[in-house]
Amino acid sequence: MTASIHRGQVILPGSTVNGQPATLGVMGGGQLGRMFVQAAQRMGYFTAVLDPDAASPAGLISHHHIQTDYLDEQGLAQLMQRCAAITTEFENVPAPALVTLGAHRPVAPGADAVAIAQNRVLEKAHFDRCGVACAPYAVIETAAQLAAVPDTLFPGILKTARMGYDGKGQMRIKTRAELATAWAELKGVTCVLEKMLPLKAECSVIVARGWDGAMVSFPVQLNLHRDGILAVTEVYEGNLPKALAEQAVAATKSIAEDLQYVGVICVEFFVLEDDTLIVNEMAPRPHNSGHYTLDACDQSQFDLQVRTLTGLPLVSPRPYGPAIMLNLLGDTWLAFNDAPPWDKVLALPGTHLHLYGKLKASKGRKMGHLNVTGTTVAEVRATALKAAELLGLEPF
Ligand code: ATP
Ligand code: MG
Repeated sequence: MTASIHRGQVILPGSTVNGQPATLGVMGGGQLGRMFVQAAQRMGYFTAVLDPDAASPAGLISHHHIQTDYLDEQGLAQLMQRCAAITTEFENVPAPALVTLGAHRPVAPGADAVAIAQNRVLEKAHFDRCGVACAPYAVIETAAQLAAVPDTLFPGILKTARMGYDGKGQMRIKTRAELATAWAELKGVTCVLEKMLPLKAECSVIVARGWDGAMVSFPVQLNLHRDGILAVTEVYEGNLPKALAEQAVAATKSIAEDLQYVGVICVEFFVLEDDTLIVNEMAPRPHNSGHYTLDACDQSQFDLQVRTLTGLPLVSPRPYGPAIMLNLLGDTWLAFNDAPPWDKVLALPGTHLHLYGKLKASKGRKMGHLNVTGTTVAEVRATALKAAELLGLEPF
């Protein structure tokens, strides 16, 4: 093993580290890894991706692709050999792999924070500690806990404590009998039952925090989900009441601060009918709701991920103007026989297409996103609605 590199040690773009061009590593080769790699490469860093999939979106465009399992010792050793610092792009990367890497290289976010975000029970306990309210819930690990669930939690949503994303590992529950059946179907793994809340809106906040504790944030994102998957994000002044937006940013900062978090973090919130803010979950990485920053801000969430990892200064990102992001799911490919009308969409001024290089579409698979920018909210909304219509997406 080459010499260890300290946490917070600045890794300058274009420099040489341990005799190699400064190289940044990422655990996971999905679209988030791909956009991190693109941001890092634009600044002159070399990149390495560890992902078992030969055709992973990030692996395809990285200088190095280490194609092993996340816990493969040789794979992890190679990643450390190549890289000056390492980040992660999806929260289900096994935390022990990050512990291994963290012994010799700066790893951001760290294994502790990722382990908390990976487990809804620990995550909710963290929110409680930070004084940020979450939906009423009960932990179900044993038959006794199942029987003791209070009536007030019905109707509710049963969520597995681990490995959930895009609404997977979740079941809507109306009665106690349904709860018992659902838990059995989930094979009795640890779950939380959350009370189903009447949502007026959903929003999220992305914060970047450096090794020195400096923090910068993006404005609050207003999110529309369909079938448990993000469909539309709208960002402009007035997308949410000002006091609520400020409260969400402050809550996200306290959640990041309390974790001593380093890197980019996203916290998702529910807004109730009476404008109460309830925290839903956090993602220890850039987030789908922050993809608009690629075209609508002077620094994207991926640029900030590069800066936090390399110890470069954090400067507040500046939005250029209103923006809307439409998520592009495999459903659109299926509806257009694999050829959505991009020529028509791109004829609309202010549209920016991002496709992730995935060769096969399937229902619900995230294939890309379309960012829409412009000078006024009315103009951006009109263009985004027109693009949605051309792509057969429901209006919003
Ligand atoms: P992600 O892809 O964001 O990681 P996930 O699978 O972890 O998704 P959640 O964020 O927990 O799932 O829930 C997905 C969606 O389901 C939420 O965005 C919201 O629309 C709805 N939902 C979840 N919990 C509740 C609740 N307690 N009350 C009402 N709606 C809820
Ligand atoms: Mg979510």
